[in-house]
Amino acid sequence: MSTPTPPAASAYSRTNPFPAKMTENYPLTKPGSNKETRHMVINIDGSGYTYTVGDSLAVYPRNRPEIVDQIIEILGFDANEIIPLQGGAQKTLKAALTENFALNRVNKKFVRLHVEKLPDGDFKDKLSIILADETELENFVYSRDYIDVLIEFPGGKWTAADFVATLMRSNPRLYSIASSPDAHPGEVHLTVAVVQYTTHNRKKYGLASGFLANNVTLGENNVLTYITPTKHFHLPPGDTPLIMVGPGTGIAPFRAFLEQREFNGDKGKNWLFFGDQRRSTDFLYEEQFENWLKTGLLTKLTTAFSRDQAEKIYVQHRMIQEGAELWQWLQEGAYFCVCGDAKHMAKDVNKALIEIARAHGGYSEEEATKYIEVTLAKTEKRYLKDVY
Ligand SMILES: Cc1cc2nc3c(=O)[nH]c(=O)nc-3n(C[C@H](O)[C@H](O)[C@H](O)COP(=O)(O)OP(=O)(O)OC[C@H]3O[C@@H](n4cnc5c(N)ncnc54)[C@H](O)[C@@H]3O)c2cc1C
Repeated sequence: MSTPTPPAASAYSRTNPFPAKMTENYPLTKPGSNKETRHMVINIDGSGYTYTVGDSLAVYPRNRPEIVDQIIEILGFDANEIIPLQGGAQKTLKAALTENFALNRVNKKFVRLHVEKLPDGDFKDKLSIILADETELENFVYSRDYIDVLIEFPGGKWTAADFVATLMRSNPRLYSIASSPDAHPGEVHLTVAVVQYTTHNRKKYGLASGFLANNVTLGENNVLTYITPTKHFHLPPGDTPLIMVGPGTGIAPFRAFLEQREFNGDKGKNWLFFGDQRRSTDFLYEEQFENWLKTGLLTKLTTAFSRDQAEKIYVQHRMIQEGAELWQWLQEGAYFCVCGDAKHMAKDVNKALIEIARAHGGYSEEEATKYIEVTLAKTEKRYLKDVY
């Protein structure tokens, strides 16, 4: 019997990202939602990339053309001026501003130099007062981009090279892969929440999510990407019960897990907790999950729509309500996986797990905490997190 040849390592990487092609980009949220979350299909044919469910795709963002053009116009720059970049590379100013730097939020370094470049007068005085107070400066930069500052405090004289030297590099953003490579060969699916807000009467977008949602032409090889393999967020063995808690975009890797389990014909039970604001507008992948419930791939689907009733109900509340059964699954060897918001959700889910171990496992608070955070998470490695 011949040994299978391992896939050749890709020639592409973080330092040499693959120009991938977006082929689909459509909203998962419905009209009337407070959010905009989109499904995107990225074709990685020709990249040599291989991935497993649980991995992420990194995307190099680009600034919106109108932002780049407006900055060049306000500052009176020549778009074709050649700008030296780190590592000896050089580009036109327009290309450098588009590809290399984050222009969606102003930084303090720029503001501190801008005040020196302003002619004497009210604008300079006002900005000096803001700069004298660190808290005010924090608040000032939080809600503004470069154009806001250039409009509010006009008249600063910059050279293109000095301006570029103040800018922050545009870093790649990670997105949990929402597809199984076996179910969708040559493709990576993403579930992207589009960051958007209006400040100082101008609409702002998150650098990468705004780029992916609004500025990628379908069918062109123009999304620079690389795969970030997960270290620990792996699909458990096929016969193991699996509990997945993935509210909002946290659903992404669980769509991939379930597609993979379906492809493999895995027999392990699957229980998904999903939550968002409203069932009518925010139930991401509703049809696919309802269908998996019918086919039996999903053993249980428990939802928490926080704004569908007077009191806010989140996934952790549903976990507590279903505590006896959830505890039973854990006793049967289930893996517990959580993905999504690290700031609040993952902490509340952790607390709920401890509460369940206390209420149904007969542990004291201290023993329950030890069971969840040490035994389940570290010793048995059955509590996996992909939170951000
Ligand atoms: C492992 C991992 C997996 C991830 N998976 C996913 C995923 O599957 N789907 C997904 O959508 N994201 C995912 N993310 C998050 C993603 O990487 C980006 O952080 C996210 O898309 C925002 O990036 P952005 O460039 O669009 O926004 P940025 O340009 O980084 O802007 C975001 C910032 O905008 C600021 N902001 C927001 N609202 C306001 C406001 N009203 N006023 C002023 N400032 C404001 C906030 O400070 C916020 O931090 C993941 C992250 C990690 C680390």
